[in-house]
Amino acid sequence: MSAILERPAPAAPAEAGCDTRPVLRERGQREVFCGLTGIVWMHRKIQDAFFLVVGSRTCAHLLQSAAGVMIFAEPRFATAILDERDLAGLADAQEELDRNVTRLLERRPDIKLLFLVGSCPSEVIKLDLARAAQRLDRRFNGVRVLNYSGSGIETTFTQGEDACLAALVPELPQSEVAQLMVVGALADVVEDQFIRLFAAMGIERVAFLPARRAGGMPAVGPGTQFLLAQPFLAETGRLLEARGARHLAAPFPLGAEGTTLWLRAAARAFGVSEARFNEVTAAGEARARQALAGPRARLAGKSVFFFPDSQLEVPMARFLSRECGMEAIEIGTPYLHRQHLAEEMPLLPESALLSEGQDVEKQLDRCHAARPDLVVCGLGLANPLEAQGITTKWSIELVFTPVQGYDQAGDLAGLFARPFARRDVLKV
Ligand code: SF4
Repeated sequence: MSAILERPAPAAPAEAGCDTRPVLRERGQREVFCGLTGIVWMHRKIQDAFFLVVGSRTCAHLLQSAAGVMIFAEPRFATAILDERDLAGLADAQEELDRNVTRLLERRPDIKLLFLVGSCPSEVIKLDLARAAQRLDRRFNGVRVLNYSGSGIETTFTQGEDACLAALVPELPQSEVAQLMVVGALADVVEDQFIRLFAAMGIERVAFLPARRAGGMPAVGPGTQFLLAQPFLAETGRLLEARGARHLAAPFPLGAEGTTLWLRAAARAFGVSEARFNEVTAAGEARARQALAGPRARLAGKSVFFFPDSQLEVPMARFLSRECGMEAIEIGTPYLHRQHLAEEMPLLPESALLSEGQDVEKQLDRCHAARPDLVVCGLGLANPLEAQGITTKWSIELVFTPVQGYDQAGDLAGLFARPFARRDVLKV
């Protein structure tokens, strides 16, 4: 079975914050990048971490092409390539891994946190990276060694960040202290803007996961209330709750409206008065709305179709329809985390079809029938669609670009306006 239309029983009462719209669920062929892609932005965020993929030449090529700029710098990721002997079970892959890690850590004393990242090949040969991480962690004093999987088997590319952060959560120290935690990798400039806004509201204890350095990872416990900065952190959120932290339900900080609602969730949880909140956020929100005016002129009235890729599709569709005047036709997302998206779903336009998972041929048929003005999709689909005259936006750009917060709202809308500008230029 490849498509299931999930429709709640009509008699079921809608719970507060729970959206009851039908969701088209598809389980067919998918066109998405794997979780290794997350290394491209995670290695920039945690500045003394190293990501060692245990995988194949394909994995190495993916990383190198996704983060090609790194060839000019001392890289903080690499691939330990499993060759035919490893795959055939003729070599002891654990021993070889130990040798590679030893060589790496002896040569690079700047590495304080090492992630062994699993891949499809390491999963297929059932290489136990958890055991390897524990063994190497004991061996190397001063370097924390952890593992997670970035395999493309049943994962999508932003789940790499979720898996990486989830590996960190059990390592965080315990603390009862009341604090706000922002969870999800944000560009440093965005983080600094949020720190200033929270401080102006009087929320002084603000922690970020991940921290910029391995030694600065925050403590967690029952005093922690956390805001998710990204909608794809299902496992990380679950593990933080298991440590006693409380999730603050909010839309995501994309666009002027999303940023205000996200900040307000923290303000309310920490007892900030509405008057003070408005005083602190008014200027930023006004700046964001002003910055949106230019791209909005190009986007308003145009239709957009999302293929499932980044898991940012729901908040992006909300932003494009409510703040840029676009019409969302289909909002496809790889996974629909109803709890984390509970504040977003009621803000989506009624008319849009919400789909979860993918059956790519059927979705392409729906897309062709709808003839949207803009398609947001992965790289693999973008070129063929462009060749058919359909304007596209690569969804991967949304995770490589700082887009959260008031001062990035204009840039975010600009990302969607740019393909139209390019088309106009090409026509000229
Ligand atoms: Fe390909 Fe799997 Fe390696 Fe990703 S982890 S590059 S999907 S082989």
